[in-house]
Amino acid sequence: MFISFEGIDGSGKSTQARLLAEALRAEGREVVLTREPGGSPGAEEIRRLVLEGDPDRWSAETEILLFTAARRDHLEKTIRPALAAGKIVISDRFADSTRLYQGITRGDLRAVVDRLHDLMIGIEPDLTLIIDMDPAEGLARALGRQGTEERFESFGEGLQVRMRDGFLALAREFPTRCVVVDGARTADVVAADAARITRDRLMR
Ligand code: C5P
Repeated sequence: MFISFEGIDGSGKSTQARLLAEALRAEGREVVLTREPGGSPGAEEIRRLVLEGDPDRWSAETEILLFTAARRDHLEKTIRPALAAGKIVISDRFADSTRLYQGITRGDLRAVVDRLHDLMIGIEPDLTLIIDMDPAEGLARALGRQGTEERFESFGEGLQVRMRDGFLALAREFPTRCVVVDGARTADVVAADAARITRDRLMR
């Protein structure tokens, strides 16, 4: 089973991905916890190329190619082998992040993202947990965090508002795999919800 976590910066999705991995491992399941951009040595190198340094280094189109290349490597080296071995893969972000970040922040490029996805990636998670969060609160949390590579947060609250709306719209577009989880509660309560939703899916 392939699970992705999505949501705006500061929504708590990384924490939730980790807590879900811990909960499933405690039940004896084999889990690979991974992330995007990154998740394989090659994709982590591409992550550095895109997220570190001059934000204007790459055009929007080149950035889509780089993110798709990173995802392809992640898929080949990490996700597919784990799924083939019967493990549960939990990825902190997957293609929905590219549909939004690269698809709407630097022009209307969603169709390009989708075409490349069809050509080079071709799979969707079985379950996508969208951690929903008030944009101002998410931004405050994200900015309060240590970290040098979060250049996209400098886009500010306007971007966060569009992203939140974008994730909710994706949930409506892909209702079978997406579940929106209220992220404005304590991490433990959100985690219990995420674990319950995942167990329901695993039993189907
Ligand atoms: O999820 P994480 O915090 O590791 O993401 C690092 C940064 O990359 C974030 O600021 C996020 O907004 C940005 N990002 C992006 N496009 C993606 C995925 C992440 O701009 N497809």
